[in-house]
Amino acid sequence: MILDGKAVSQKILEQVRKRVEAENIKAHLVVILVGEDSASKIYVKNKKIAAEKVGIKSTVIELPDSTTESELLDKIDKLNKDQDVTGILVQLPLPEHIDKNKIVQAISPKKDVDGFTPENVGKLAIGLEPYFYPATPQGIIMLLDEYKIPLEGADAVVIGRSNIVGRPIAQMLLRRNATVTIAHSYTKDLESKIKTADIVVSAVGKKVVRCKMVNRNSVIVDVGIFRGSNGKLTGDVDFDLVSPSVKYITPVPGGVGPMTIASLMYNASKVYH
Ligand code: NAP
Repeated sequence: MILDGKAVSQKILEQVRKRVEAENIKAHLVVILVGEDSASKIYVKNKKIAAEKVGIKSTVIELPDSTTESELLDKIDKLNKDQDVTGILVQLPLPEHIDKNKIVQAISPKKDVDGFTPENVGKLAIGLEPYFYPATPQGIIMLLDEYKIPLEGADAVVIGRSNIVGRPIAQMLLRRNATVTIAHSYTKDLESKIKTADIVVSAVGKKVVRCKMVNRNSVIVDVGIFRGSNGKLTGDVDFDLVSPSVKYITPVPGGVGPMTIASLMYNASKVYH
């Protein structure tokens, strides 16, 4: 059965829109884009369209590639102090001369809609409530919950340990009382770990989950998105061969991608003063 991220994301966006309207939420998301990365431009455009859809004001600040680290830090400082701005998102990747960690750390945790600041990450890790959960992992949990997939006691394998997906989804599954294994490029015998898992979340960016690895009761969440050799967008999972052999699976595209946007808008509608 397909975990339909497209349909569920529409439902969540509609819930956010209704709440923003009913509670007269005055949210203002500022997205900073540095440089000319074409994929980043598309992501930023999609975020702006989604914000408009749900009634959240959004501003895109486009800065040239030549922007210095201190100029960017200055900009963030001003946005942190601006009462009208409730969410700040710096689109990654940044040009090489800018230290991503310094920039992320400069964002006020109360405006950190990506959930990437040390305060929000730290709270997630020690079991406190962060101001924001990172968008992609939160979107995955929303999707699993929508299909009432039990997390408590489930054996989950997370493939990938990035700060934006692997680590936080592992923390969030753990918080929901799943038993979590985190796999990465040094993991031995990934196949046997996947074979016995109830839930597999793959966030790698290359084909790692094949048909013979899964079991009939597996729930497969494919976070990966990249262009295959035929130029088409594809995920980490060999969808055509794996999908008939598992209980649930997300398609690529149309699975985790739209859930990430919906989850981000959910975050952007949260206002802390
Ligand atoms: P990343 O930072 O490149 O991390 C990839 C992870 O995969 C690393 O932890 C790496 O291990 C691990 N890995 C690499 N080869 C492996 C192998 N053969 N077996 C097991 N693990 C392996 O990636 P990311 O930023 O998390 O993104 C992962 C994918 O998700 C990409 O395709 C990205 O485009 C996609 N993505 C999609 C969304 C969405 O909304 N749909 C959001 C974010 C990311 P090491 O740590 O040992 O190097």
